[in-house]
Amino acid sequence: MNTESEKVVVRYAPSPTGLMHIGTLRTMLYDYLFAKHNNGKVILRVEDTDKSREVEGSYENLERLIEWAGIPYDEGPIFQSDRVKEGVYRKYVDILLKNGDAYHCFCTRERLDEMRKKQQAQKVPPMYDRKCISLSKEEVSRRIEDGEEYVIRFLVPKDKDIEIKDAVRGKIVINTNTVDDQVLMKSDGFPTYHLANVVDDHEMGVTHVFRGEEWVTSTPKHILLYNAFKWKAPKFAHLPLLLNADGKKKLSKRQGDVAVEDFIQKGYLKNALINFIALLGWNPGGGDTKEIFSMEELIEKFDLKKVHKAGAAVDIKRLNWMNSQYIKKMDTQEFIIQAMPHFKSNFPDLKDEEVIKKILVIEKDRMEVYNQAGKENTFLFNSISLDKELLIWKDASLTDTKKQLERALQVLEKIDETNWEREFLNKLLLSEAGDNKGEFLWPLRAALTGQKYSPSPMDCAWVLGKKESLNRIKKAIKLC
Ligand code: GLU
Repeated sequence: MNTESEKVVVRYAPSPTGLMHIGTLRTMLYDYLFAKHNNGKVILRVEDTDKSREVEGSYENLERLIEWAGIPYDEGPIFQSDRVKEGVYRKYVDILLKNGDAYHCFCTRERLDEMRKKQQAQKVPPMYDRKCISLSKEEVSRRIEDGEEYVIRFLVPKDKDIEIKDAVRGKIVINTNTVDDQVLMKSDGFPTYHLANVVDDHEMGVTHVFRGEEWVTSTPKHILLYNAFKWKAPKFAHLPLLLNADGKKKLSKRQGDVAVEDFIQKGYLKNALINFIALLGWNPGGGDTKEIFSMEELIEKFDLKKVHKAGAAVDIKRLNWMNSQYIKKMDTQEFIIQAMPHFKSNFPDLKDEEVIKKILVIEKDRMEVYNQAGKENTFLFNSISLDKELLIWKDASLTDTKKQLERALQVLEKIDETNWEREFLNKLLLSEAGDNKGEFLWPLRAALTGQKYSPSPMDCAWVLGKKESLNRIKKAIKLC
């Protein structure tokens, strides 16, 4: 896309209106990948001009998550509210007013509400009716001096087709007759998103704007502003909507987590989450079925041409699978350190860290998310109830089952406590099992766990320890 020799400049332009949404992280990640792929620059610009929507702590959350995600910016943070104080936006509003591209509007909230109601009743799209467009300069000055409240509106030229060449969606044409005379500056002197966004993208030399598809209707307004200022507009890339797992509706809080923070709390790994989010609306294509990418690979492969138009389903099953792949590859000690707090919060009564560590070790290869720690293997630290039917391997008899359990008991009894190690148990019991593994290992596994499905009997015996393992086997023998 960047065929010209200009240096790529992108910006993260979040509004501090709450915990960071995964859609915001996706936009920033694409910004970052694109900038790094093209040796470009990332600016962090905080769009904080709408004080009524601001949520305390949002900026801190944002900063922390940018750092956590490993997508650092090169310049900033620049706060738009600081630029308001410096009079930046006022200066540009004055230019528009002077050139006749904007006008003062004194209409009250009541009047605008009334107007909108009428338009709705007539089934016409709600638009400002331009009542204030004809006010004389003198009248405007007098009313301002009288202290009347006003906003500045953009004078949208009528009957024009505005063409957006979107890097993802292709050509989009919108007729200006459907574009409202947008408010550019509110009565409190703060610019609206549209004005501040355009002015800043221009002043900061932004070459590429990445944002969610929901902003596409704002883009014609922005292009009109660029035209009014005689500025070159950046290139736009509207990223596909995030959808629920079924791919039908827009992703909503009601269907599950949407804040990045929620995923972190559940124990998803950073690299897995980044990998997952990167593939929400993009993949390297070319018949490549690879799904696991490091940040370096993502930077290398990221190509705007491969971003999809269709909405991207946020499928937690896929995320879980990805996360499990990352857990598998992790260093075991590091994994224990990270998963331990999740185990403890799931089972605060189990205090024995040695046991917890062992359980985590055997869970590692199958665990999808840390918050599952211990949940599937509670029989390793709680008492179990045994059903003799479960002890029977296929069509073996109860007598056979008893024999096999006695054999297991004999083998295990002989092991010295100091040799009660995972590897050792594994080798010993597998060689004892010989060719007919099920016949020997099934009753043992069932005796140790009381479960239809569980980790191997060797792993379970290792966690349970010699004494408890023997006890459980003896109890099972009694049932036969
Ligand atoms: N502040 C907007 C947001 O919160 C930025 C939209 C844009 O990138 O233009 O998403």
